[in-house]
Amino acid sequence: MKILKNIVAALICLSGVHILIREFLCRNRVAILMYHDAKPEVFAKHLDYLSRHWTIISLDVLVDAIYQKDFSRIPAKSVIITIDDGHAGNIELLHLFKQYRIRSTLFVCTQIINTYRHFWFKIKGQSKAEKERLKRLPNAKRLAHLKRTTDFEPEKVYPDRQALNIVEMKEMVADVDFQPHTQFHPILPHCTETECRQEILGSKVDLEKLLGIECSHFSYPNGDYTEREIEIVKTAGFRSARTTDIGWNTVEASPYQLKTIPIADDAGLALFRAQLTTIPQRLGKWVNSLYYRMPSR
Ligand SMILES: [Zn+2]
Repeated sequence: MKILKNIVAALICLSGVHILIREFLCRNRVAILMYHDAKPEVFAKHLDYLSRHWTIISLDVLVDAIYQKDFSRIPAKSVIITIDDGHAGNIELLHLFKQYRIRSTLFVCTQIINTYRHFWFKIKGQSKAEKERLKRLPNAKRLAHLKRTTDFEPEKVYPDRQALNIVEMKEMVADVDFQPHTQFHPILPHCTETECRQEILGSKVDLEKLLGIECSHFSYPNGDYTEREIEIVKTAGFRSARTTDIGWNTVEASPYQLKTIPIADDAGLALFRAQLTTIPQRLGKWVNSLYYRMPSR
């Protein structure tokens, strides 16, 4: 799979498609990149490339422009950097945010940051196929299954820390836009109405209280949402929500369905340039949908 990805990336870069897409398609469209736990060495190379060919703006600038229906102040070829979950390794990126003078948005799980609780999707020994199956279960069933098979509990305290703590977040808050990504990272459409409200509203309250800030942007865990989640996010007072629907955002974008460009945390420069076209991700999604639809999996 990795070899195939690199071949696709090389073909895109050799053909110059990445330049055509950047120079023509991205004049009036904004790319929101999505990372999770990139290492500083890799992230530095991405930022170096972006700073030479793109303009890095903040999420606030895009959301304001969408509400004003006016992209005139958005530079051509703009990108926004978002980083999901609140992984402890994100602190290593702070010097790069400062060096490039960029304001990235970190969407964090507010009941996992500043604790020794674990992310359920980082439990060791679970195959990708098993995780995908769990994502389709009702929330209570998923948690019951995890408890039975791995002894995982959302509020259990583990010896090692997976998420950022308050000391690190306070060090980052002047350079980083912290926003909520629910409390425990459930798959929202598989939650009950009460669970869903608690996860969305509770995460806003948690983060505002923890950092003394006002939160206005949200991102759906795993990118899963329905009309119900959009309504709850709106009534909670958020101005926008980022999905994982692949694509760019125009002046017509719905603020509660912002599109994204997922970037592999370990992408070399060729793959990164190719991923900015969204072609490898669209191909990957298509292959995955065939694979996980097979009844034997
Ligand atoms: Zn996430």
